[in-house]
Formats: sequence, C-alpha cells, structure tokens
Amino acid sequence: MKTAFIYTDAYLDYDYGPTHPLRIIRLKLTYELIKAYGLLDLPSVQFIPTIKAEEKELAVFHSQEYMNMLRQANEGYLLGDAYFYGLGPGDNPIFPGLFNLSLLVTGATLQAVDFVAEGKGEISFNIAGGLHHAMKARASGFCYINDPVIGIMRLLSRGMRVAYIDIDAHHGDGVQKAFYGTDQVLTISLHETGYTLFPGTGFEYEIGEGEGEGYSVNLPFPSYTEDEVYVWAFEEVVPELVHAFKPDVVVTQLGVDTFYNDPLTNLHLSILGYERILKRIKDLTPRWVALGGGGYDISNVARAWTLAWAVMNGIELKEELPESFLKEAVKMGMEERELRGPPRTSLHSQNKENRVEMERVVHYIKETVLPKVKG
Ligand SMILES: [Zn+2]
Repeated sequence: MKTAFIYTDAYLDYDYGPTHPLRIIRLKLTYELIKAYGLLDLPSVQFIPTIKAEEKELAVFHSQEYMNMLRQANEGYLLGDAYFYGLGPGDNPIFPGLFNLSLLVTGATLQAVDFVAEGKGEISFNIAGGLHHAMKARASGFCYINDPVIGIMRLLSRGMRVAYIDIDAHHGDGVQKAFYGTDQVLTISLHETGYTLFPGTGFEYEIGEGEGEGYSVNLPFPSYTEDEVYVWAFEEVVPELVHAFKPDVVVTQLGVDTFYNDPLTNLHLSILGYERILKRIKDLTPRWVALGGGGYDISNVARAWTLAWAVMNGIELKEELPESFLKEAVKMGMEERELRGPPRTSLHSQNKENRVEMERVVHYIKETVLPKVKG
C-alpha cells in the first residue's frame, strides 16, 4: 500500500490574527510530530510538497464575484462589499494573503485527490484541508474556499462515486449543500447538534432532495456525548451505508474539535474514541482521501492527526512522544508527553440520556435513509 502526505511550511507565512482560534502553528506542530516519529521515512510513504491551486480550479464551485472579492481582500484591507460575502472582523477576518492561503490549502487537497484518483496510491492526507463551511459565494466558520467540495467535484469529473464522512464537531454544511441534490455523493456528517453549536444545521431529517434524497445523512449528537455513545452510533449506521453505496473513493474531514477539552465545542470524546473511528474508516475503504478540519487545542490536533496518519499507514506508535519533538513542542505551548495519555474517566451523568437520543436518531436513519441508499 502507498500513501501520500501533502504539506508545506509556507502555511506559516499567514496568520488569521492574534485572537483567532484557527492557529496555523497547529499544522506545523502536527507535521513535526509526524516527522519525529519517523512516519515520513517509511518506504510506502510519499511526501508531496503543496502546490497552489489555480483560480480556475476553484471556479468549479465558487462564484466569480466571490473570488474577485477574495483576490482583492488578499491585500489585507477591508473592502466595501466584504460583509456581503461573509468577510470581516470575527470568524472570517481579512488578513494579508488570505486568498494565497486558500489556494495553497485547496491545491493540497487536489494533490491528495489526484494521488488516489490516478492510482499512485491508496491513501492521502492533507492536514490543512477540510474547510467544510465555505459556501459558493460566502465565507463561513473560518472557511473561505471549500476544498472538500472542489476535491469531490474533481473525483466526480473522473466518473467516480464518492462517500464523504465528516467527523468534525461542526456540521459539514457547505459540503452537504453542494451535493444535496445528487445521488453520486453520499455525505455523512457526525457532529454536535445544531441546537447548541454553529452552524445550527445538520438535523437527521436533512436527507437530501430530488435525486439526492437519502444521500445526505446526519447524526447530530447532544452536548457531552462521550466515546461509547459516539462509536456505537457510528457503528450502527456508517459501515452499512458505505457498503450499500459502494463508493470508488471515501473522502473524510477529520476535525478534532470533538474532544472534551476543545475550547469551542461541547462534545466529550477522547483521543481513544477518535482512534477507534479512524480504524473503522480504514476498514471501510481501499481508497481514502483524508482532510484535516477543526480542532482548537493544538496538542490534541498534533497528537490526533499523528495517530490518524499512523492508522492510515498501519503503524503502532510508542506512547512516549519523541524527545526531539518535545523540546520544540514546549516552546509552542504543548505540555503533554504522551501520545494518547491514560483513558479518561467517564462523567456518566449524561450518558443514558444521550444514548436514548441517539437510539432515536439511528432508528430514524435506518428507517428513512438506509432503504433509499440500498435501492
Ligand atoms: Zn469544527
């Protein structure tokens, strides 16, 4: 099996601003940990430096007016119509080079897609990708250009069927919306319920429309959902859906903002639950394009994506983080010395109610969506 890791330190030339949660350093820290574990030196691994996408490659999804606005905003100044496109102080700030960064991130996703689609290997990982909230003509939720959509559209243009699995704590609304009316893409999003978290969508009854009816699947989890209920619900519906759909490629958004100590969300997963899900995804598919996503505790991001990359390559890592990495990591504000750490003691208080709620959601999906995908 061959795998590709797509990355560049050029991401570090950009900065969303001092108070923005999406810190570029999380990508660097992940890369350094993966490298320190020797996971880029395996004979089966190809390291591919990121190459910028071309503007015309974005035009398959985004409107020309919106891209014109992003190109102007690239100078770093607020423009008159910016708010109309979701740009401005707050979630989607205007900072110098923001369009360049979007072109880099999207370029990496297209490289990841091409690697798998052209049969150069089976699995590819772009940790900078997965910006799943961006809309056709609007920035949203820290996302300017929707690289998952553009990557999936490239696979579709090659005649491939795609299953998209999104495990970020936030609903993958931009990707769902892009493919809501087609049966060529099965989108499955597991996330914290829209009742308590941005973007406020992703309810189980959002199942697609027209030819796409049954091909959008949503598992909204209540706040404080822990590993046990999360993994149970995943097992109940995701493998069966993917097997029924028979995709040529699985694209995943692997956000790690589902963890109990993530500063922005209310799900309570641990890195052990995350690892179990990653192993299941690997079993589901021979061809896998993996993208990053959210995750606002940089230590979680680095450790979880390193673990994900190890799973993709079938490697077991030692629990102690490499010494060479720790020296640098401390400077970047990371204190953990272990890859997973001890299992977390369950809080239990919400488990029973959350299980009951997810049994209802799982039942709904099995009754409503699954029969349509099975045909
Ligand atoms: Zn998120």
